[in-house]
Amino acid sequence: MSEKRPRNSSSRIRESLERIVGKNFVSDRLEERYYYSSDPSAEEPCAPDFVVMPGSVEEVQEIVRLANREKIPLTPRVGGMTLSGLAIPYGGGILLDLKRMDRIIEVNDDSMYAVVECGVTTGQLKTYLEENHPHLWFCQPHAPPSVGVISNAVIYGAGQISLGYGVSSDMINGLEVVLPTGEILRTGSCALGKSWLTKYCLPDFTGLFLGWFGATGIITKASVQLWPKPSIRDAMFYKVDTVEDTVNILLKLTKSEVCDDIYINSWTGTSTKRFYMSQKPEGTPEITMDIILSGKNQEQVDLKKRMVGEIMEEAMRKGVKVEEFEPPLMLKIAMLMVPQPLPFMDLMLGGGAEYLGCYVPTEEVGEAYKRGIEIAKKYGFQYLHVVRPFRTGHCTGIMYAFPFDKRNPEVVEKLLRVLVEICDMAISLGGVPWKPSPTVQKIVLKHADSQYVQLMKKIKTMLDPNGIMAPGQWAL
Ligand SMILES: Cc1cc2nc3c(=O)[nH]c(=O)nc-3n(C[C@H](O)[C@H](O)[C@H](O)COP(=O)(O)OP(=O)(O)OC[C@H]3O[C@@H](n4cnc5c(N)ncnc54)[C@H](O)[C@@H]3O)c2cc1C
Repeated sequence: MSEKRPRNSSSRIRESLERIVGKNFVSDRLEERYYYSSDPSAEEPCAPDFVVMPGSVEEVQEIVRLANREKIPLTPRVGGMTLSGLAIPYGGGILLDLKRMDRIIEVNDDSMYAVVECGVTTGQLKTYLEENHPHLWFCQPHAPPSVGVISNAVIYGAGQISLGYGVSSDMINGLEVVLPTGEILRTGSCALGKSWLTKYCLPDFTGLFLGWFGATGIITKASVQLWPKPSIRDAMFYKVDTVEDTVNILLKLTKSEVCDDIYINSWTGTSTKRFYMSQKPEGTPEITMDIILSGKNQEQVDLKKRMVGEIMEEAMRKGVKVEEFEPPLMLKIAMLMVPQPLPFMDLMLGGGAEYLGCYVPTEEVGEAYKRGIEIAKKYGFQYLHVVRPFRTGHCTGIMYAFPFDKRNPEVVEKLLRVLVEICDMAISLGGVPWKPSPTVQKIVLKHADSQYVQLMKKIKTMLDPNGIMAPGQWAL
């Protein structure tokens, strides 16, 4: 990054920001601006002019009013870990790091929800619940524990209960939002009074803010659903030779409603060494399937294990090559952890990691898997796929992971082409790209119905008349 002065810099703006949050929480120093300028994705870096850490909703409001008055871009961020450039401050301006707003305001044990501020991290909420409400948990991604609970809902993130209950955005009862013009809006039952119980029975305005990647306002609080935490969890592991057989098994497993979570991993993803191999070693199955089950007691877990076993035996009777195996104990323990430690992303020198997901029809997973391999190979990349069904199989996420050398512009250029082709392919199969990077968002908008895009434009203009919020995200 060059040494040049920030674009939107003026001592007047800096002093105004300092008056709002205090000197310690504003920076226009090169090192902070550099830190917040990029993420591991293939998206272009862009430095903010100021990094600001507000400590309260009132401070967020004042910053937003200042930015709106002065027409300065504003980008919210918590962990910055989406691996698809969603918190890069395009256009410079103010990067709002929300981590100081980290209060867990309320946990309702009976109606099972937590009201959290926007900087509460998944690690923080997990620890708080373990210490104070050990029988409850929330939809937690396998991302590092420094990522935000609310920011995960902004991107339709998936967790250990997503096969049963849906993704984290499904589990929001209500929001408090600072609009791009500085007013506060509440959605859900908290719009009626002090209850954060539900979003039922009212027009659902959470959709004005979830999936927008910060482009329509800053969520300052949310009510997040909690769920009963099972007493016992266990895992079963299978090797399957072909993706077609895997999908047939998957369709049966999801509808059986006995599994908490299912991971389908390509052979390349199961150990660091394998990712570097261009050919699959003889005798290696294409896929390993990790099945997580749980219960209130051992009897319930054993029954579920028997039911999974029966589905597998039925497949074997039909000639499918599927084999149960016991992984090393450490691996089994890791698979049962939430979050799971996932070492596969730090394989490459150069620090790049892209993780494009597509939510596709479960019956199309085989096609999405095979075409993902073809596209990766066409551009000289090794593939690494992880498949994870949601909501009893109503749709399934297929994640295409690409560790890459970010220092090499040719590699970056090729990878962007891979992502665009995967996005086109997934949409042609009836799917929707998950947490699309700005590059992939353009392809999504190209495919989208014109009335849909028009409505997006109207909403954006109505909420953000000066176009200050998260420029570059859903650039309509
Ligand atoms: C090893 C690894 C494993 C992962 N596994 C998973 C997984 O299992 N499941 C999963 O879902 N994800 C996973 N991820 C992806 C990602 O890390 C998570 O989805 C994470 O929750 C993103 O949160 P964040 O705090 O980093 O988001 P950020 O990048 O800070 O924000 C995400 C988006 O939301 C916007 N935003 C943030 N806060 C607000 C706010 N208050 N109001 C409005 N907009 C806001 C930002 O501007 C940005 O556009 C994984 C990532 C890694 C590196």
